[in-house]
Amino acid sequence: MRVGFVGLGNMGFPMARRLIEQNHDVVAFDTREEALERVVALGARPASSPKDVADRAETVLASLPTPAASLEVATGAAGVIAGARIERYVDLSTIGSRTAGQIHDRLAQRDIVAIDSPVSGGVGGAEKGALAIMVSGPRAGFEAARPALEAIGRPFYVGAKPGLAQTMKLANNVLAANVLAATAEVVVMGVKAGLDPAVMIEVLNAGSGATSASRDKFPRAILPGTFDYGFATGLMVKDVRLYLEEAEALGVPTDVATTIRRLWERVADDQGPDSDFTTVIKPLERAAGVTVGPSPAQPGHLLHRGG
Ligand code: NAD
Repeated sequence: MRVGFVGLGNMGFPMARRLIEQNHDVVAFDTREEALERVVALGARPASSPKDVADRAETVLASLPTPAASLEVATGAAGVIAGARIERYVDLSTIGSRTAGQIHDRLAQRDIVAIDSPVSGGVGGAEKGALAIMVSGPRAGFEAARPALEAIGRPFYVGAKPGLAQTMKLANNVLAANVLAATAEVVVMGVKAGLDPAVMIEVLNAGSGATSASRDKFPRAILPGTFDYGFATGLMVKDVRLYLEEAEALGVPTDVATTIRRLWERVADDQGPDSDFTTVIKPLERAAGVTVGPSPAQPGHLLHRGG
């Protein structure tokens, strides 16, 4: 099918590539010229704005970094809302249910269906077409977009209410934020006590302490010291804040999420918002006086323990 795609970053690029590989006809746009060129080289047609994409495709997907960027792309002056051909806008970004509701209401005035479709599974999942895709919105709109969604992962329809899929995604991400921070904290503690971090991760993965962090993030980006998992610390802070905004509005307990927000805000201050979120371990290493991954002084030396 003809698919528009706006936002070709860490997640958007591999998703657009999957669509092209599955023989969808992709019309793409990104504000960064080099991001657009990369997908055009794979066979996508370039567009000059989100409106231009929406002038040329019935179904437009977007993967954008902030709620403000999603609002702009959906409803701004050169947004998809002004497109002539668009029938449905599928937002794959994590933007929270409040912004999803705003986008839904504004697009509804132009008879454009908003489908809320945040994803989970990281860059690795996007590259393999193995994302978990949480979907809310009218079922008919979802069914129309389904061939595109199935090219990038497995859709889970969670309900018709606008923003419901965002709530599901934020619940998922706050848990992921917790287990990454908690796994980093216990591994630093173990290394300080004399345990080998690689052995710790192996044991955790065979035992009841296994998490998405011990299974995936530690072996891929922390133990080798590459810190290149592909998710920015600033995005993690955004997601935890969006979760808390929703939880507080609902009046439910937030003790754990409140603590985890403070922790991730400190990581963003310390490492910068553009740092990879696996650098969460660095302030902990510094405070403990140990190094879990390879020491910069001894590249290739995997299990260095500092003073
Ligand atoms: P990213 O910053 O790597 O990519 C965003 C892209 O959007 C960039 O290429 C940027 O140039 C482009 N962009 C920004 N404003 C734009 C605009 N107005 N018009 C057109 N293009 C614009 O971010 P990402 O890591 O790919 O994440 C995208 C979304 O997916 C975020 O909401 C994030 O929370 C979510 N997400 C990310 C991951 C991950 O592992 N990276 C996993 C699940 C969900």
